[in-house]
Amino acid sequence: MKPIIVVGAGPVGLTTALALDFYGLPFVLCEEDAELSRDTKAGTVLTRTLEAFRRYGVADRVLAKSLRVDEIGDIERATNTARASVQTEVLSEDTRFPFVINMPQHHLEPILQQALEERRPGALRLRHRLVSFDAADNRVTARFETPDGAREVEGPYLLACDGGRSTVRSQLGVPVEGHSDDARVLLVDVKVDLDVANPRDYPYLSYFADPQEWMILVRHPHCWRFLYPLAPDAPEPSEAEFKKKVLGFIGEVDQLEILNTIVYRIHHRIATEWRRDRVFLMGDAAHLITPMWALGLNTGILDAINLPWRLAWVARGWAADSLLDGYAREQRPVAAEGSGETERGGEGDDRRRLGQRDDPHHAGRSPRRR
Ligand SMILES: Cc1cc2nc3c(=O)[nH]c(=O)nc-3n(C[C@H](O)[C@H](O)[C@H](O)COP(=O)(O)OP(=O)(O)OC[C@H]3O[C@@H](n4cnc5c(N)ncnc54)[C@H](O)[C@@H]3O)c2cc1C
Repeated sequence: MKPIIVVGAGPVGLTTALALDFYGLPFVLCEEDAELSRDTKAGTVLTRTLEAFRRYGVADRVLAKSLRVDEIGDIERATNTARASVQTEVLSEDTRFPFVINMPQHHLEPILQQALEERRPGALRLRHRLVSFDAADNRVTARFETPDGAREVEGPYLLACDGGRSTVRSQLGVPVEGHSDDARVLLVDVKVDLDVANPRDYPYLSYFADPQEWMILVRHPHCWRFLYPLAPDAPEPSEAEFKKKVLGFIGEVDQLEILNTIVYRIHHRIATEWRRDRVFLMGDAAHLITPMWALGLNTGILDAINLPWRLAWVARGWAADSLLDGYAREQRPVAAEGSGETERGGEGDDRRRLGQRDDPHHAGRSPRRR
């Protein structure tokens, strides 16, 4: 069998590659950049993603570099009173990972990359930019731009994990349905000690409700992350303004360093078609949904759980091609539901998604709130 062509080495492409390795399928993973992204993106990994990492043999290394969270705070910002909190231990009987972890995406991806290099040396091809492809006669031919010139790769399937601006999706002419919010999100990563030197007693993942300005606090292994809304017409704050905002919340501290700031928009957009013959859309290429409640990266990993085993079953002759249609049939509603739910602005019930009850093998219960 020729290698399955996976395009894009973000978290979804990397996890998909590990899954294909797990099922013993040949593949190449082609990434346009010379190295993995170092951008500030996702920060929380949910239970179901951890289960996938365990199946694909990387959970231990991921856990070793992350910060475990057993309680998710829900706090009224104005009065600083806890309204409720999600106790993830309620999932204890349903999963071996009854918690979530905080870890920046740019720390997670190299762990997946390293595992892949160990298991399939050379399968990850950096500086391979997909420029075009054809699907015909039971195979896909993909053309890449590389430092050594144009290169053609042939394979039985093309898995597009090439992100929100997917070349594959646009060349297929598949539209995305939905909208983007006018309001934006401000994210600031801060190096500060809020544990010992300046103790602040909040769960390491806390949502602060407020009619004026909500806030999310995420403790990462190397920093604290603050997220705030930014009104549609408001100018982007300067670094000094970011700092003032953070200090306004935590009060005086002995030392504080701004590591990184970013302003981004939230989308609720889903591709109308996820499979065209031998080409599949996965991750952000298929759904650009809100990162709130960690649904961006984690929804993509659900795609990487759903499709590879189907490809393996068909390759082994255990199932007909129609098994592959189940991928979009199951995953599209998951993405649509995630996107739609969060449009309601973070109502408390959205946190039930932590249980990821969509997986038929995992009848997750909702975390208890108190
Ligand atoms: C600021 C920010 C904060 C976020 N916070 C969260 C969060 O808290 N929780 C959460 O779950 N999600 C969050 N997300 C969303 C999350 O980062 C994405 O959902 C996730 O990166 C999607 O992974 P992916 O692998 O599908 O795509 P990507 O990570 O975009 O990876 C796509 C890869 O494909 C490569 N590529 C693109 N085109 C080509 C081509 N033609 N040829 C070869 N390679 C190509 C790219 O270089 C890239 O490496 C956040 C995103 C942002 C921007």
